[in-house]
Amino acid sequence: MCGIFGIYSFEKINVAKKIYYGLFALQHRGQEGAGIATSDGRNIHHYKNIGLVTDVFRDDILQNLFGYIGIGHVRYSTTGGKAVENCQPFVVKSSFGNIAIAHNGDLVNSNELRMDLEKKGHIFTSSTDSEVIAQLLVRELLKTSDKIEAIKNTLKKLIGAYSLLIMFNDSLIAVRDPWGFKPLCIGRDDENIYISSEDCALTTLDAEFVKDVEPGEIIEIKNGGELSSYKLDFDVPEYMSIDVDVPSIYRGATTCMFEYVYFARPDSTIDGISVYKVRKRIGKILAKEHPVEADVVSPIPDSGVAFALGFSEGSKIPYYEGLIKNRYVGRTFILPSQNERELAVRLKLSPVKSVLEGKRVVLVDDSVVRGTTSRRIVNMVRKAGAKEVHLRIGSPKIISPCYYGIDMATKKELIASNKTEEEIGRKIGVESIGYLSLEGLIKAIGRKDLCLACITGKYPTDINFEKIAKRL
Ligand code: SF4
Repeated sequence: MCGIFGIYSFEKINVAKKIYYGLFALQHRGQEGAGIATSDGRNIHHYKNIGLVTDVFRDDILQNLFGYIGIGHVRYSTTGGKAVENCQPFVVKSSFGNIAIAHNGDLVNSNELRMDLEKKGHIFTSSTDSEVIAQLLVRELLKTSDKIEAIKNTLKKLIGAYSLLIMFNDSLIAVRDPWGFKPLCIGRDDENIYISSEDCALTTLDAEFVKDVEPGEIIEIKNGGELSSYKLDFDVPEYMSIDVDVPSIYRGATTCMFEYVYFARPDSTIDGISVYKVRKRIGKILAKEHPVEADVVSPIPDSGVAFALGFSEGSKIPYYEGLIKNRYVGRTFILPSQNERELAVRLKLSPVKSVLEGKRVVLVDDSVVRGTTSRRIVNMVRKAGAKEVHLRIGSPKIISPCYYGIDMATKKELIASNKTEEEIGRKIGVESIGYLSLEGLIKAIGRKDLCLACITGKYPTDINFEKIAKRL
């Protein structure tokens, strides 16, 4: 996952504090580390550390990050571990000047690229893809001083997911990979141009949404706010034809369906589609696909809320909050180790006995990955007195790992990779379980140019599974 946020202030106002607020609004995309790099036109200043945005930055740190251009990053570790050197933005020094990079996504060929660079004498200080991109860019900049040319030459070598912010001393560049895996959008107000992983951060800063960065688009901001758009000369190969009657927004794009289902904040709009509306539609479709006789529909908060509202509307079963979330605990799915995840579930959710006791309860959640969290929650609901528990899931079965930036699990750990729905239901301990169909998912999102690899096992890029296994 990860969240990236950048500002170019054409009024030359210090941007660090606004980047801090932007990152705060994107905190749901990564909670392990945060960083900001700013440029005053001549020098780059930067600070990064492990922890939540509010833990990493104090006022005195932000005051030292002066400059009118800046980029920030919240980290969720996939490639590379939790160490501070793997936090971003990544800053490299070159004869061309300093460059800072913030990256959301994972490359599937970073191992090959890294080994190749090492053979050529490059020494790496982190284990992240972002450093690989930075080193490749520096090499290209030595061949041509045209920044856009150098970026295009670098990007041609990358396979996989990358939404990028690249900051030079005097300009800010945003890139979305040709597949459009991860979201990226532009906003503005009277003083600044903003680039953000999600538009919810623009709303926080009272900035106006301008447009989504399109798959394969490079946006350059320089000379006091002049915006130029370039297109990557890159053919995305034919991926998968899906026979569902909905439009394709971008030809060849494969935007991560999980952004709509789980990752993005519900108040965000991705490529013109409201995440909240998608989740409500999913709930309604689920109610049709998997009807059940019950007394109460309850979400597994927070991500299950819109699904459960939709399910309640579609089924006419009343909506209640059967579980209350402690809002000071992070999202369990994106905490990396199993131990942390298990403890976090107990800290995070509490059953409401008066809602659940003696009732037939439909619990609605976004997805089931390993099944361990769902089993614990179902147990909790039963202990609170529920007579029956029926689980409804707002995505199809996850059967394959993600190689584009989501540390889901290995295939073996995925509960749905080798079990039928009935077996999964028994393992989790529910009376019935119902997953959204693939067709229902595409209809609810309203576009079919999506990456669906973790639910179909068909990947939109070439993947060398053997090399990836070695790297992991
Ligand atoms: S494999 Fe799944 S989680 Fe990964 S990018 Fe594709 S849809 Fe998203």
